Amino acid sequence: MRALSGVMALASVLVSVLASVPADAFVLYRADAKDPKSAPLRWFSLRATLVFDVGAPEEIEAVPARAAIEKSFRQWATLKCDGEATPFELTFGGTVSGREVGYLQDAGPSGNENLVIWVPAGWAHGKKVLALTSLTYDTKSGEIVDGDLELNDADYEFTLDAALDKTAIDLRNTVTHEAGHFLGLDHSLESEATMFNTAPPGEILKRDLLEDDVNGYCALYGPDAPLKVITGGTTAVPGTRTSNPACSLGTRPSASAWLLVVLFALALQARREPRVDRR
Ligand SMILES: [Zn+2]
Repeated sequence: MRALSGVMALASVLVSVLASVPADAFVLYRADAKDPKSAPLRWFSLRATLVFDVGAPEEIEAVPARAAIEKSFRQWATLKCDGEATPFELTFGGTVSGREVGYLQDAGPSGNENLVIWVPAGWAHGKKVLALTSLTYDTKSGEIVDGDLELNDADYEFTLDAALDKTAIDLRNTVTHEAGHFLGLDHSLESEATMFNTAPPGEILKRDLLEDDVNGYCALYGPDAPLKVITGGTTAVPGTRTSNPACSLGTRPSASAWLLVVLFALALQARREPRVDRR
């Protein structure tokens, strides 16, 4: 990634929640962020392997933390679209050390690892940002060739169960959201969706996918996805995309936005019930 240019910041969609929410509120990343008709970002290989950095958060043991992260990702990869299992294969390749986030262009997709890494100090993406997913993709075809997830352990306390500690950040709540970015989903306009861009500390709502999240996934990987799988022969022209800094689940950019989120939190609290894949 160090050699690449074109890091694109995506505009916050927070204000959009004030408008009426369309039936399909999910949003796909596009190869050209300014052109909604350009190719969506998507894993053409229909498979991805993630590896974990050996580091662990201060407040959670490494093994259960990895299990929670795996569970968060697998929830997406085990979805059914129109009753059919999707062919996306998600695997986990164990632990590694000494790796850096980014994409080594000379190594190609097979020589790059999709990394999950805890950042214990020196978080470089702003204190409001809880976690960051960086995608490298072909700027023409939209093919994702690499995805890395960084977790901000420098500024936040994570927990395996925020239902028991509402001041901490729920790991699965965070990673389930970031896994959606990893797969090609941008922030949804649906305030109850996992892919909605904000949530307060203590939230666990995003652990479970809403129908809108499932629809977004199925638009990319379902049997009716109007997308051709291109295998081989593509010349990657990598661009990079990072998840919107506004997916800083712990803090808000402004007082009005914070109020909005508090209101949502109260509303959601009242109707919280186990959310399941509604397909
Ligand atoms: Zn996000």
